[in-house]
Amino acid sequence: MAEQKAYRVLLYYKYVPIENPAEFAAAHLQFCKELGLKGRIIVAEEGLNGTVSGTVAQTDAYIAHLRQDPRFADMPIKIDEADGHAFKKMFVRHKPELVTWRLQEKVDPNKLTGKHLKPKEWYEMMQRDDVVILDGRNGYEYDIGHFRGAIRPDVDASREFPEWIRKNFSQYKDKKVLTYCTGGIRCEVLSGILLREGFKEVYQLDGGIVTYGKDPEVKGQLFDGKCYVFDERISVPINQVENVIVGKCYHCGKPEDRYVNCANPECNLQHIVCVECEPKHKRSCSKECEEHPRNRYVAEQREREAMELAASRS
Ligand SMILES: [Zn+2]
Ligand SMILES: [Zn+2]
Repeated sequence: MAEQKAYRVLLYYKYVPIENPAEFAAAHLQFCKELGLKGRIIVAEEGLNGTVSGTVAQTDAYIAHLRQDPRFADMPIKIDEADGHAFKKMFVRHKPELVTWRLQEKVDPNKLTGKHLKPKEWYEMMQRDDVVILDGRNGYEYDIGHFRGAIRPDVDASREFPEWIRKNFSQYKDKKVLTYCTGGIRCEVLSGILLREGFKEVYQLDGGIVTYGKDPEVKGQLFDGKCYVFDERISVPINQVENVIVGKCYHCGKPEDRYVNCANPECNLQHIVCVECEPKHKRSCSKECEEHPRNRYVAEQREREAMELAASRS
């Protein structure tokens, strides 16, 4: 057994009515800050969704706190081990929805949602020939890793899905549709939207890719590339059996799956870059960004050189 790491990242959600979400959010932020957690939590009238990082003791205390609340006593919490915090700050935000769909008529996943499949069931189901697999995430998430054979939705935000489905996906209404996302929350509503649009049989991966990657039996098989995550790790490995790289370097086109943020602080564009191209292009997405006076790669380079010089003199 590998030694336990000092930190953990928790990922969880639950669609359950929360009265006075603004008040709940304020008290929850206070509690998280006192504990020393960092992360991003969304509180809405329809439920709770969060990713937080902290030490083992901090996250244990947080889980115990959540469990005391009958609304979250049975909420699945995914735990990843980590070497440090995955966030810089602690945010708890009150929002109108857990995922921004902006539907004219809301989908309540407690009333309308696809059938949940456990990792083993999903693994078997996705290999049938009467199914179509739909990635429930954004295009840029798909680009560094996805289930083999999945369809890439050409969307940059969840709210673009309904229109994209009508225009590009309605030919699959008579197939079994399998949807998946990072931790499962987006598919709760997405699969409901599909059912409402007239799709007959809709399934969703219970607990998402993150849970699938931890299943001791399937070991993340048939997931190619890495799983994009919305914290400082940017991506995490899933498939423990095979390592397939599906992304391409933004500059040279070589197979690669490391996402970086453009070093121009005014650009920050997330793009895939190989280790050779990173210094060549100063970790930047364009000539303009390379030459930006506050380019972070250039600043880091200067710092490294100064440190090396100081070390050589001592
Ligand atoms: Zn390259
Ligand atoms: Zn840029």
